Amino acid sequence: MQKVAIITGASRGIGRACAAMLARCGIKVIANYNKSENEANNLKEELTRENIEIDIFKADVSKREEVKQMVEFALNKYGKVDILVNNAGISQTKLFTDITDEDWQNMINTNLSSAFYMIQEVLPSMIHEKNGSIINISSVWGINGGSCEVHYSAAKAGMIGMTKALAKELGPSNIRVNAIAPGIIDTDMNKGYSEQEIKEIKEEIPLGRIGEPEDVAKCVKWLVEDDYTTGQVISINGGWLI
Ligand code: NAP
Repeated sequence: MQKVAIITGASRGIGRACAAMLARCGIKVIANYNKSENEANNLKEELTRENIEIDIFKADVSKREEVKQMVEFALNKYGKVDILVNNAGISQTKLFTDITDEDWQNMINTNLSSAFYMIQEVLPSMIHEKNGSIINISSVWGINGGSCEVHYSAAKAGMIGMTKALAKELGPSNIRVNAIAPGIIDTDMNKGYSEQEIKEIKEEIPLGRIGEPEDVAKCVKWLVEDDYTTGQVISINGGWLI
């Protein structure tokens, strides 16, 4: 029976690459988007040209009710969810002292509470199937801490704690929970860096290049196929942080 995956934040960047790669492997993909409807439609059209069908679903994953509706859509259409990739996220660069309550809440709700809502909503299906793979897209900053990105780092570190604790709790139900901590990946999220800054970052990376969204997607694909890895944080960073 075909596997079913929900990928949050799949309109652009890493999430889009994950959605395309899993769909091309024959997995039924529900690609979530929030604001980028055109980009989500483009993804659907690109795959349709290859005779691959995917669903796109608009939901703000920082809101429990919208997450609930998306999971209900998946369950009504396919009867189960086997794979969840919690990828949707935002970033913001600010001095710690300038972070407002609103910035903090927005960051935590979008990057961390979203995963909490998503996992709670898909779990009954995974427990019923006695099978599941949950992949949380954290960040190098969740391990190492990023200056002027304290709220982002806190949310991403929270994802790692959630991953490890849940892996222990859900292992007996044969549900694997892992995190990926990308380094610098070439997406819109990093378009604020100047050419000079990118050059300097590349010089710090042993493999000598910025990552591509597909570098992360390949790891997601591997975690989806694997069935004996849980509670791990996999760094896809070209050796930037060892
Ligand atoms: P991106 O190109 O900016 O894409 C972000 C995606 O998240 C978009 O599809 C966006 O959808 C979605 N999103 C944002 N807020 C959302 C919400 N409230 N509800 C639903 N979707 C929402 O970013 P990216 O670089 O691919 O990042 C993907 C993930 O990887 C993030 O969690 C990020 O923190 C993490 N990461 C990225 C890097 C990097 O270097 N790029 C490094 C480490 C970790 P819409 O546009 O449709 O709203």
